[in-house]
Amino acid sequence: RDGLSKTRKQINDTAGNLGQDLRNTLTNRLDSIEDLEYALIAADVGRAATEEILEDVRASNKPNLQEALMEALTLQLEPDARRAQFRKLGFAPDARRAVVDPRGHVVMVIGVNGVGKTTTIAKLGQYYMERGRSVMFAAGDTFRAAAGAQLGVWGERLGVPVVQGPEGGDPAAVAFDAATARASRGTDLLFVDTAGRLHTKHNLMEELKKVRRVIDKADPGEPSEVWLVLDAVTGQNGLAQAKKFHEATPLTGVIVTKLDGTAKGGILVPIVRELGVPIKFIGVGERADDLQPFDSQDFVRALFD
Ligand code: GDP
Repeated sequence: RDGLSKTRKQINDTAGNLGQDLRNTLTNRLDSIEDLEYALIAADVGRAATEEILEDVRASNKPNLQEALMEALTLQLEPDARRAQFRKLGFAPDARRAVVDPRGHVVMVIGVNGVGKTTTIAKLGQYYMERGRSVMFAAGDTFRAAAGAQLGVWGERLGVPVVQGPEGGDPAAVAFDAATARASRGTDLLFVDTAGRLHTKHNLMEELKKVRRVIDKADPGEPSEVWLVLDAVTGQNGLAQAKKFHEATPLTGVIVTKLDGTAKGGILVPIVRELGVPIKFIGVGERADDLQPFDSQDFVRALFD
């Protein structure tokens, strides 16, 4: 019970301005599409998604504006393929559930320094261990000694083995050692931390590509996952960077952090829309259990609670 109400509270906090703006609109002027349009734009939902939401709301056969809006918003929080499927078939509970189980055994975690990558890896470790999986970490940011040390501290705290490399060493070598160790130990999941320094962008992208290749070589079979960590507070700027990462190392998922702060929840819509990959989790605080698997329908429902 406590867990559930905590989740609800976290999601409610997360909803931030998106919820407030829309709630105000809906309670003030239930009949005005113009106000709704304004609220969506103000909540950072973005032009293109706003147009589609308004179209869906106008075409909806739902009994009231709020229900029409909730369904339209939920659609915008799903990538293209799933959005099309939901439009056609409706929201079957099984189909809509976020699939947060990684495909293979290795998840490469990428993103710019400071977005919360290392903390998120710790949270992921805790999340999957609570669900009975064995977990390992790889400290692939050999560039910053502090990053490796930080992951080491989390590993000790959570009881997760951490594969470290020499400072300034080759991140791909660390990833290879870790992926090989994972396979030989039969550990369920390996999360690979990576560098996120932006000033030498080209080299970083090349480095990430190499890490990806090496992981796939060391752990053939299921292709590895690549999850990008994005800080919700940086909004559109973060999204522009995210696209660069996506070009270099095609993403299979996104984790949006710091939604507990002042970020507008609406930013989730352009994130999904422009990257075209599902949001796997949202980060809602600094502690190891401040991570929520993302479910579009639950998220939208919480906005209007
Ligand atoms: P990295 O450089 O990307 O590895 O970032 P860190 O994991 O070191 O995190 C940077 C800062 O963001 C730290 O102070 C974290 O505690 C904080 N942080 C990470 N995730 C969240 C979150 O979801 N909410 C809040 N409020 N802070 C977070």
